[in-house]
Amino acid sequence: MIRAMRDVIVAANWKMHTTPVDAGELARVVAGRTRVPGVTRVICPPFVCLAAVGAALAEADREVGVGAQNVHHEMQGAYTGEVSAAMLVGLASWVIIGHSERRRDAGETDDLIGRKLGRAIEAGLRPILCVGEQLEERELGQAGTVVRRQLDSALGAHDPASLVAAGLVVAYEPVWAIGTGRTASGADAAAMAGIVRETLGEIGFPDRGEMIPVLYGGSVTSSAIDEFMAEPSIDGALVGGASLKPDEMAGIVARAGVTAAARGRTG
Ligand code: PEP
Repeated sequence: MIRAMRDVIVAANWKMHTTPVDAGELARVVAGRTRVPGVTRVICPPFVCLAAVGAALAEADREVGVGAQNVHHEMQGAYTGEVSAAMLVGLASWVIIGHSERRRDAGETDDLIGRKLGRAIEAGLRPILCVGEQLEERELGQAGTVVRRQLDSALGAHDPASLVAAGLVVAYEPVWAIGTGRTASGADAAAMAGIVRETLGEIGFPDRGEMIPVLYGGSVTSSAIDEFMAEPSIDGALVGGASLKPDEMAGIVARAGVTAAARGRTG
């Protein structure tokens, strides 16, 4: 019953691809090819393309959400080159936080990610919090421990009610599956989604975190998506490389739509 209330979401992470010149057109094409009842679509372009994507979608399809790929942990200040949550208001309504590429390349810690989450909530942005283990951690049987630690640190300082109100989404993204063409198995992803909700419950989320959508991310394609959507604990996907290909996005959202319909989500 509670599960049926969770959104089915396909979020596109365009990473450092597209420019303000071509991003609007890509967004328009993707929007046009992914109109499927019951699936919440989000496009997360680079910061400098947010305005172009927003303008294109305002004409093409207002149902597609626009998200940023990162946000600073302070609202303003002497942080040269950074972008705050306040600056994103009007440009984005979603934000990806804690992506493994930022943990790896920008040295983002769980504590910092928790602070970013706080700013996102204050600004009214819907956060997609990314968690996931490295390959060695999985091989050592530590995947669950790692994801628990990431969630505890990032969420622990926040009131669960405000995270629920903000529409928190958790993306389980095993680092070894991102951009590698290798995916987790559906069963492993489902087991990790179980650990995510168990942890949310321990942190104090109502109904053991059952209302929080959990996405899978890591080399999702139109042919790989079914394995994840077949798992009742998985509510969609965070898609990187394949999200730049309209054919792939059309297939991924169509498959997510089949699951959305089966779960009773029609609008
Ligand atoms: C991502 O960027 O979050 C991601 C999962 O990338 P890819 O689909 O390319 O693995």
